[in-house]
Amino acid sequence: MKYVSTRGGIQPVSFSQAVLMGLSRDGGLLVPESFPDVRDRFPRWSSLPYADLAFEVMRLFADDVPEDALRDIVTRSYSTFTPVPPAPDQPRTGPEPVPVRPAGTVHLLELHHGPTLAFKDVALQFLGNLFEWLLGRNGGAMNVVVATSGDTGSAAIHGLRGKRGIRIFVLHPAGRVSPVQELQMTSVLDDNVFNIALDGTFDDAQAVVKQLFSDLPFKDAHSLGAVNSINWARILAQVVYYFYAAFRTMERTSAKEVSFAVPTGNFGDVFAGYVAWKMGLPIHRLLVATNENDILFRFFSTGAYERGNVVRTLSPSMDIQVASNFERWLYLHSGGDAAQVREWMKHFAENGALRISPDADGAFDPVLRAGRADTTQTLDTIRTFREKHGVLLDPHSAVGVSAALEDAGRDSAAAPYICLCTAHPAKFPDAIAQALGSAAEATHPAIEALRGSPTRSFPLPNDARAVAEFVAAHT
Ligand SMILES: *Cc1c(COP(=O)(O)O)cnc(C)c1O
Repeated sequence: MKYVSTRGGIQPVSFSQAVLMGLSRDGGLLVPESFPDVRDRFPRWSSLPYADLAFEVMRLFADDVPEDALRDIVTRSYSTFTPVPPAPDQPRTGPEPVPVRPAGTVHLLELHHGPTLAFKDVALQFLGNLFEWLLGRNGGAMNVVVATSGDTGSAAIHGLRGKRGIRIFVLHPAGRVSPVQELQMTSVLDDNVFNIALDGTFDDAQAVVKQLFSDLPFKDAHSLGAVNSINWARILAQVVYYFYAAFRTMERTSAKEVSFAVPTGNFGDVFAGYVAWKMGLPIHRLLVATNENDILFRFFSTGAYERGNVVRTLSPSMDIQVASNFERWLYLHSGGDAAQVREWMKHFAENGALRISPDADGAFDPVLRAGRADTTQTLDTIRTFREKHGVLLDPHSAVGVSAALEDAGRDSAAAPYICLCTAHPAKFPDAIAQALGSAAEATHPAIEALRGSPTRSFPLPNDARAVAEFVAAHT
């Protein structure tokens, strides 16, 4: 399997090269040259435990990693999840890292049983082990530098802590991440982990990281690496749970197809679902669910992709206006026309907007639709699910559930909806308190265990030079 750039500016590369490159050198994103049709494998795949299914899906795309190495990487990556006992009606799956549970008319895919209680663990546990293996084979080192507003930083730290050949520098805005998220990051004391508390905002932290990466001599001298969701290995790891959840739900309901509701920020997670659909998974609808930061909702409703201002909401990991992975969809939508993508992206960079014409039926894609939930709808959904079904949703997951219920109400031919639960509610006690009047139920033993732990972080001024000097002094 070869990987090409959405902007057509590089020769096709292998899986390993694509993973180490992250962003393509021409500024584009890497995509597989083709998508294998796997429908004849479903009878065998549908009964596999999660890690075995992950190996089967990934080996089709990671074909320059030897199979025994890949199997070992995958097994280790999902052994850090807290296994959930199988549902009584599906005893044969055994304890699962990513269970699917029915709640009312929908099915909840719980992606938050990893070390940091957010779905990003599914990809970053895998990416950490994969990086370590690739660097071990090639004899290199890597210094990952990343800015975070919360979830990405802790999942990246827990994916890379203690890995040979890798150091990780995480910049968080000092005093501006939630106490739980800060503790999840700064309580990791491994020698290769450096938490930088930057005296600035998240946007400042991101600007500093961008500046470090754009200084090419510095980037090369210090082997800077990235773990953003534009890394193909992160998308690949997420493709797996679309298959797994569809198999569990089709088994449970005897439906022939399923729909997914995906709380969306950078479009990485929903793009993984799109890949599963391209491979032949019978998906009726992939619902792109946004909060008030609704550029994607507006796009899939009107065809106009127009940048707006970022609004702070209860679901901070979705407070994003420009969705970096959207370029991958644009590329596939254009039929692999890199010149067209270059033109669109240039137009967007210059005007903050681009426009696409709908298909004959008025839609912009055969499977993608969009939904939106504002703060009131999010809080109502948390409250209703707690009262009616005894399930506590985190605010990101509630956005997806709200959008799914609204969409299912419009579509009488609807397939069963699988709603992705992307974080554990214990990470967002303030939102839970707003919804229920108390955060007493928003707890998790892994978070309680952190309270009072020793922490370490390095306060630095909001200055790219100071951060560059810090990185240089520790590599
Ligand atoms: C990152 C994140 C999202 C958004 O995922 P994308 O791949 O950026 O669309 C949703 N929910 C939670 C909890 C997250 O951490």
